[in-house]
Amino acid sequence: MIEQLLENNRRWAEGWSRRDPGFLPSLAREQRPDYLWIGCADSRVPANEVIDVAPGQLFVHRNVANLTPPSDLNFLAVLSFAVKVLHVKHIIVCGHHGCGGIEAALKDERHGIVDHWLAPVRATYRHHRVEIDALADEDARIDRLAEFNVVDRVQDIADTTIVRDTWKKGQKLAIHGWIYRLADGLIRDLEVTASQPEDVD
Ligand SMILES: [Zn+2]
Repeated sequence: MIEQLLENNRRWAEGWSRRDPGFLPSLAREQRPDYLWIGCADSRVPANEVIDVAPGQLFVHRNVANLTPPSDLNFLAVLSFAVKVLHVKHIIVCGHHGCGGIEAALKDERHGIVDHWLAPVRATYRHHRVEIDALADEDARIDRLAEFNVVDRVQDIADTTIVRDTWKKGQKLAIHGWIYRLADGLIRDLEVTASQPEDVD
């Protein structure tokens, strides 16, 4: 099976050099993506594929439940590099319905280390508990929490000094919250875009 992946890669690279011989060599020289994608590690939500963009257009950070903890050095390094060095114009936080991480946070079950990682999702659940618990269907509760999680993560990013200082300098930067539906592959804009400090509240 693993050899098949290498074979796929050879076919993929050959496809690019046939269609657009200069494309891969141009990527070797530099990257200039306009977008930072923060998504879930879930195998069913591949960032470039679901928005149909070529290599070089999307700087990507993925983890379980698309979280953005200000104590996470990995996330901060990605955010800082994307904003300060690559000068991305948009940050997209894309959660998804049917998210296993969100489900784990919603149910009081033990899954190991990941339970610590999911603490921000449980905090989001506490803030929105009345609305979420009012939904009779469990899948609907998970999906609604996934949406609230995206909204809170947009707020986390907007609250970082990295983003605040960028806005203060007058550099254009918008943070968007999206939700992806596994069943039909469609993304919905949650309309919580923040492009200045006043938008955050
Ligand atoms: Zn997920």
